[in-house]
Amino acid sequence: MELDSKQKEIRKLQRKMDRQRRAVNPNNFNPNGTVKKGKKHWHQSNRYKKIAAQKREIERKQAAYRKSLHGHLVNQTLNLGKNIKTEKVSVKAWQKNYGKSIGFKSPSSFQSELKRKAENAGGTVLMFSTRKTALSQTCLCGNKQKKSLSQRVHHCSICGLKMQRDILSAYLSRYIDPKTETLSIQLARNGWLGMEQSLLDGWQNGSNQSTRTAVSPKSPTSNSGIELMCSNPIARKESESVRTNETHAVSWNPLPLGMG
Ligand SMILES: [Zn+2]
Repeated sequence: MELDSKQKEIRKLQRKMDRQRRAVNPNNFNPNGTVKKGKKHWHQSNRYKKIAAQKREIERKQAAYRKSLHGHLVNQTLNLGKNIKTEKVSVKAWQKNYGKSIGFKSPSSFQSELKRKAENAGGTVLMFSTRKTALSQTCLCGNKQKKSLSQRVHHCSICGLKMQRDILSAYLSRYIDPKTETLSIQLARNGWLGMEQSLLDGWQNGSNQSTRTAVSPKSPTSNSGIELMCSNPIARKESESVRTNETHAVSWNPLPLGMG
């Protein structure tokens, strides 16, 4: 992945800079290698300055590349619908769990870009609380079933419903009341019969295609009430999207690494 390889390069340059700094400023370090406390003067060698400039340039390019990826993804998303419901995920918690691989992809800047462009186009973005809704653990029958993140399929032990977890979450998010940020399970149940096949098709297509993007044919009865639902607003290559007659669902799973 492009962003990842740049990150490696940056770390390599950073290590070079650290070595340079140690070599040129031996008096600023304790015998055990840690930096001495108190005020110090740091001398920067020409070589250090050169490497630092190289590093800045790669970081600048990486930021520009990331921005263009985000822009592309935002446009793709808004092509499906302008009214977006998505889980308010904690980027901080992701960073805690997955470290820097999340941080340098800037999911929060993706979110704010999506919000800005959707609102410019006259749409809305609702970010609802995951704690209140717990969509990934919720079944249509009302059963709450905890899953580990590696468990990608929801298979209810009570009613037997089987669906890719992100697709199910995206479907359920359609029935989040924007005011209360709670799920109306009854409405979700009512809508399920007409939707299940499309969602299954989406799951099927999603796992067959190398791009992992699935779009089922748009129904001719489609109306203008287009919604886009994301179970997780972070981009990654294993994205799956499902298009149905009045609802568009896109979901991404939040495991670390690449952005396609
Ligand atoms: Zn169930």
